[in-house]
Amino acid sequence: MDNMDIGLIGLAVMGQNLALNINDHGFRVAVYNRSTTKVDAFLDGPAAGTNITGAHSSAELAAMLAKPRKIILMIRAGAAVDQTIEQLLPHLDPGDIIIDGGNSHFPDSNRRTRELAERGIRFLGCGISGGEEGARHGPSIMPGGNADAWPEVKPILQAISAQVDGKPCCQWVGEAGAGHYVKMVHNGIEYGDMQLICEAYHLMRSGLGMSVDEIQVIFSQWNSGVLDSYLIEITAQILRFKDEQGEPLIDCILDSAGQKGTGKWTGISALELGTPLTLIGEAVFARFLSTLKEERKQAASQFPRQYPSYSGDRESAVSAIHDALYASKIISYTQGYMLMREAANHYGWNLQFGDIALMWRGGCIIRSRFLGNIKQAFEVDPQLENLLLNPFFSKAIDQAQVGWRKTLILGIEQGIPLPTFSSALAFFDGYRSAWLPANLLQAQRDYFGAHTYERTDRPRGEFFHTDWIGSGSSTSSTHYKA
Ligand code: NAP
Repeated sequence: MDNMDIGLIGLAVMGQNLALNINDHGFRVAVYNRSTTKVDAFLDGPAAGTNITGAHSSAELAAMLAKPRKIILMIRAGAAVDQTIEQLLPHLDPGDIIIDGGNSHFPDSNRRTRELAERGIRFLGCGISGGEEGARHGPSIMPGGNADAWPEVKPILQAISAQVDGKPCCQWVGEAGAGHYVKMVHNGIEYGDMQLICEAYHLMRSGLGMSVDEIQVIFSQWNSGVLDSYLIEITAQILRFKDEQGEPLIDCILDSAGQKGTGKWTGISALELGTPLTLIGEAVFARFLSTLKEERKQAASQFPRQYPSYSGDRESAVSAIHDALYASKIISYTQGYMLMREAANHYGWNLQFGDIALMWRGGCIIRSRFLGNIKQAFEVDPQLENLLLNPFFSKAIDQAQVGWRKTLILGIEQGIPLPTFSSALAFFDGYRSAWLPANLLQAQRDYFGAHTYERTDRPRGEFFHTDWIGSGSSTSSTHYKA
């Protein structure tokens, strides 16, 4: 048999569900997994009665596939991907296509696209989001890599992806590691969205003294407005969930957050590219802080919260929290898009920002009504420099500002940490400031390190050094941008 449409390697949760999804759409799939018992268990279990066939080696898998072969890897990111590719290569022909659907780091996809092209193999790095449910019924797929390979796999990937308004949440992203880069930013934004929701919950629970049941009602209501999104929806469901004693399960879950690293990668990329991605950075740090559980318990007994319980109008406070969440979310996406714009310039990718919003509109964890507004903003102006400059978003921020500031005051008065709400506002206030105190900063740098400064009354690009103490030298350090 050598006529299967696509091969899939990796039968953990994502691979199994993706194979079933591909089969549902009428494509013939052959599957293989390093531990071959999983191949048999899958064929006898979830894949029983389907047209999926199994292979027990890379060679057998390659022999089953129509040419040019298309093989999607759904395995652990990192060394496993390189090892699996090396095992496959002896059984492939020039022009065959390897698609890495795991959460690989984009520099690895840059390298694999280049190295495999040198060996005649076309490589695609595809970010796939949506977890188990998405893989089974329609994920968001962000393909990048070798552009020649895209038309060959497009019919399959677009058929199995989520669809919104009849459009697939799978569009070509760009060369080399662009697909995995965009998936990485998606995950960073996911970190931000989750932390924002947690801060709203924290304010309502500890600041306003609301019960879990009362808060779940608020999240359900919010899900039918501008905040309508998968993460708000599941938050309401989580808060509704009761344990065996009939109590909210959420109250028994330890407050120490895990992470797999994609948020951290996003923050590192922002630092490398010099982009102010403050909100996602704070979301990653908030997870780190949460893991210091024992230290926090000690500090809590040393510095107990001693604030009067909230006595104001709760309804208006909840409305302000809503506005703070919405405005901060706009800032988070603004920063995420600023980062992607910088990455596109730096790596030479022609990213289509509207298509990226469309891909995130359905199938993935950050799917929301809001992404439809971002898509529209880029439809109106494909060259839009910053989301905040789009009339829809600037009006939304204007309307939310009062509540946003009130919410931060509430958090400060009540001693409730709001790292993402407050970093969002600090960014906004900085971004819309024609003047910032960086003049003083430049003077300090020049004072101690002769790093030079530019003057407001002279053209940009002319650099000056002052002998601030009268006994220094007039020699300046080389000036640089960092
Ligand atoms: P996973 O737990 O990340 O990986 C398990 C799979 O990787 C198994 O098939 C395992 O084979 C294989 N594997 C591990 N080391 C290997 C090696 N050295 N050589 C060959 N195969 C190796 O599985 P997953 O959760 O289904 O995720 C698959 C990929 O999708 C990952 O990159 C993940 O980050 C990404 N992803 C996951 C989700 C999610 O919600 N889980 C969402 C989006 C993307 P054995 O059975 O032989 O150990």
